Amino acid sequence: MTTVDVPHGSRSVIVTVADVIAETADTCSLVLDIPEEFRARFAYKPGQFLTLRIPSERTGSVARCYSLASSPHTDEQPKVTVKRTADGYGSNWVCDNVKAGDHIEVLPPSGHFSPKDLDVDLLLFGAGSGITPVMSILKSALDQGSGKIVLVYANRDQDAVIFAAELRRLATEYPDRLTVVHWLETVQGLPTATQLATLAAPFTEYHAFMCGPGPFMDAVHDALAKLDMPRGRVHAEVFNSLAGDPFTDSAPVELTAEDEAGAATVEVQLDGETHTLKWPRRQTLVEIMLAKGIDVPYSCNEGECGSCACTILEGDVEMANDEILDPADIADGIILGCQSRPVTDNLRIEF
Ligand SMILES: Cc1cc2nc3c(=O)[nH]c(=O)nc-3n(C[C@H](O)[C@H](O)[C@H](O)COP(=O)(O)OP(=O)(O)OC[C@H]3O[C@@H](n4cnc5c(N)ncnc54)[C@H](O)[C@@H]3O)c2cc1C
Repeated sequence: MTTVDVPHGSRSVIVTVADVIAETADTCSLVLDIPEEFRARFAYKPGQFLTLRIPSERTGSVARCYSLASSPHTDEQPKVTVKRTADGYGSNWVCDNVKAGDHIEVLPPSGHFSPKDLDVDLLLFGAGSGITPVMSILKSALDQGSGKIVLVYANRDQDAVIFAAELRRLATEYPDRLTVVHWLETVQGLPTATQLATLAAPFTEYHAFMCGPGPFMDAVHDALAKLDMPRGRVHAEVFNSLAGDPFTDSAPVELTAEDEAGAATVEVQLDGETHTLKWPRRQTLVEIMLAKGIDVPYSCNEGECGSCACTILEGDVEMANDEILDPADIADGIILGCQSRPVTDNLRIEF
């Protein structure tokens, strides 16, 4: 693999691959060595993801998000886990090319698929590579929390089960707190909403987190709806490929006097600082923050990754694309900064 030594933008960092682990025949994990000076920026919450810059002779690069399968509480180094997508470019490139000692360019952790409280009882659903963020949440909650955890984990067959040995070990270590239910398609067929509802029925007081292919997530959503689980306790992480290039700094928009004249006013809390800004109606929150030289977290700029997720404390926005947010997020006031334009005159937002 070609080794990159200079980041392509101001927000990305070059890290060393400490180890490559073959998890299954079509899945590998990259354990990353984060340089000392960037450790604080790479502090992460269970369930968050990194964005990798993957070289391409055709387009220069592609950006792909990979969830951290490691736990910030139990693992010394961050680890992302990549499953080959049939005919996929980035995932196959990673699994075919990356080796220990290589340098790769990554954006710092982001995303909001993370329990607010690790003490609650958790009902986790993972399918295939969707186990990755779920595993980080599971390990963190076992280590830091006190609740019970039920994991329903669907795979094609036994050989496709990522982290099988680690889950066995954890189930032995925490017999009173962790229950793992494996679902193998070759044995049981694809899980239906009715079957999943039967499995989930005793746990409707738990908080649900799910990640996996679309049809699996649809079945889980339907199952939890059948059980009347409140949407505010149901969280989903959607995997997709980014189309844009978040590694290249986008030129800040120029804010004209006319823009600022009819603008809303927003108070933004970020990294312990409060910024009071004029927010012109046609600009997004990310755009106005970049225009003012503020180091706002963002990545795809297309509403696809959740890096710029923040919480609206006062006022209202409209979002061009909010598809990755689930009703629980929206009920919590979560918005995407790269998609949000102001509706009310005064707003307060917290990152
Ligand atoms: C928040 C988040 C977390 C995720 N976490 C994980 C995870 O933990 N594990 C995991 O496995 N996946 C994860 N994903 C999914 C992952 O980001 C990718 O979507 C997945 O790996 C498929 O990417 P791919 O490039 O292999 O496939 P595709 O995106 O399907 O590849 C095809 C695309 O690549 C383009 N392409 C083909 N050839 C080239 C070329 N030579 N140069 C440039 N472009 C080309 C095509 O035009 C097409 O658009 C996550 C996604 C998100 C959003």
